Amino acid sequence: MKTAAPAPVAAIVTVGNELLYGETVDTNAAWLARSLAALGAPVARKLTVGDVTAEIHGAVRSALDVADFVLVSGGLGPTADDVTKQAVADLFGRRLHVDRDLLGRLEALFRARGLPTMPALNVSQAEVPEGATILRNPNGTAPGLALEVDTKLVVLLPGVPRELRGIFEGDLGALLRNRLGDRLTPVHHRVIHTTGVAESRLAELLEAELPADRGPVTLAYLPDLRGVDLRLSARGVSADEAAAWFGRYERAIGPVVAPWRFEAESGDVVEALNAALAATGRRVAVAESCTGGLIAKRITDRAGSSEVFVGGVVAYDNAVKVGELGVSDETLREQGAVSEEVARQMARGVAERFGADAGIGITGVAGPGGGTAEKPVGTVWLATVVDGEVESHRLSLVGGREAIRERAAQEAIARLYRRVIHARSRA
Ligand code: ATP
Ligand code: MG
Repeated sequence: MKTAAPAPVAAIVTVGNELLYGETVDTNAAWLARSLAALGAPVARKLTVGDVTAEIHGAVRSALDVADFVLVSGGLGPTADDVTKQAVADLFGRRLHVDRDLLGRLEALFRARGLPTMPALNVSQAEVPEGATILRNPNGTAPGLALEVDTKLVVLLPGVPRELRGIFEGDLGALLRNRLGDRLTPVHHRVIHTTGVAESRLAELLEAELPADRGPVTLAYLPDLRGVDLRLSARGVSADEAAAWFGRYERAIGPVVAPWRFEAESGDVVEALNAALAATGRRVAVAESCTGGLIAKRITDRAGSSEVFVGGVVAYDNAVKVGELGVSDETLREQGAVSEEVARQMARGVAERFGADAGIGITGVAGPGGGTAEKPVGTVWLATVVDGEVESHRLSLVGGREAIRERAAQEAIARLYRRVIHARSRA
C-alpha cells in the first residue's frame, strides 16, 4: 500500500433556528458529509447553531481549529433573520460590498420572472465579503461564497437543499478539486447485503474469518429492521488496489455470509426476489393476514413487477381465509388462525386460485394486543409454496407492531427468494 498524503480535513456548520427546534431535519449536513467523503475529504466536525452572530462565530472558529476548510450552510437569504454572511464577514474583518456583476445577474433573473423591479431586500444578496469568490447557484438567487482565511477556506452556502447541492456539484466541487488536488483520498466501498441473521451472530462468525492483515479496509455492520449490510471501506488507495483488497475479504468471508446474502443494487431483497422469479419464469401470489398487504406492496413497489406478481389477498377475517383462499373451517377451529396449517393452506390456496407458481401465506400476532401464553405477540407462521411444494416456519419476532410486520414481510420475501434460487439451480 502506498503512503498517501494526509487527506484534507473538512468541517460542516449548519445554521438555522429551525434546525435547533427540530422542525427542519438537518439533511444538508448529512448530504455534505457523504459528498465530502466521496470527494476524498473526510469530515472531522459537524456543528449546528441558531441564526445568532455570536454562535456562528463560535462554530466557525471551532471548525477551523480542526479543519482545512469549512462549509457553512444556511442564513444567506435576504431577510433579517439571515445573519450568516454578515457574521462571517465580521469574524474575519471583511467588509461587505455590492458586487456589480452579481447585482446585474439578480436583476436579470427578476426580469425573467416577469417582475419589473427587484425588491430592495434582494440587493443584499448581491453583497459579498471583500476577496470572496462567487460560486454560481444554478437553482436560486443566493450564490455560494468562498473566503480565503490564511491557508484555509470558509465557504458559505444557502440553506435550501436543492440550491446547496447545485452549488456543490458545480463551482464548489471544481474549486475543491482544484485546490486540494492529489491530497483528496476518496473512500471506496463495497456493500454485502444480508438478511435473516442477527448482527451479533454475524460479527461472531466473521471475526474468526477476517484476514489477519486488514490492509486499508475497515468493516462496518449496518443493521436495520430488514437485515444487516456489511460495508467494506478502503481509504488512501486506488480503485484497483481497493478492489484487490475487497476480493481478499470476499474470499475470506464470502462462504460465511452465503446463507443470508443477496445481491441487489437497491439493497432491497425484493429486487433479488423479483429478478429470480423473472429469470426462472415464475410468478407469485400472496395471502397476507398480519402483514396486511405489506408484502404485496413491497413486491409491487418495484418497476416491472407485473411480470412476476399475479395478485394478493389480505385475508384478515377468517371468513376471507375460508371464502377466498379455501382455508378449512375445521383447521381454523382446531388450530386457530395463527397456526402452521392455516399458513400452509393460505399459501397453497392463493397460488392455486391465482394460477401462480409460487405463493406466500402469512398469519401472526402483530400486537400490541392479542397475544396469549402459547402464541405471544410476535408469533408468526409463514409458509412458502414453490411448484406445489409447501414449506413452513414459525417466527418469534420482537418489537412493536410496525417492527413485527416489517420483519415478518422481510422474512417471507427472503425465504421465498432462497427457495426460488434453489429451484432454479435444480432445474
Ligand atoms: P434563502 O435565500 O431561501 O432564505 P437561506 O440560505 O437563508 O436561503 P435558510 O433561510 O437558512 O437558507 O433556509 C431556507 C430553507 O432551507 C429552510 O426553510 C429549510 O427548509 C431549508 N434548510 C435550511 N437549512 C437546512 C439544513 N441544514 N438541512 C435541510 N434543510 C435546510
Ligand atoms: Mg433564509
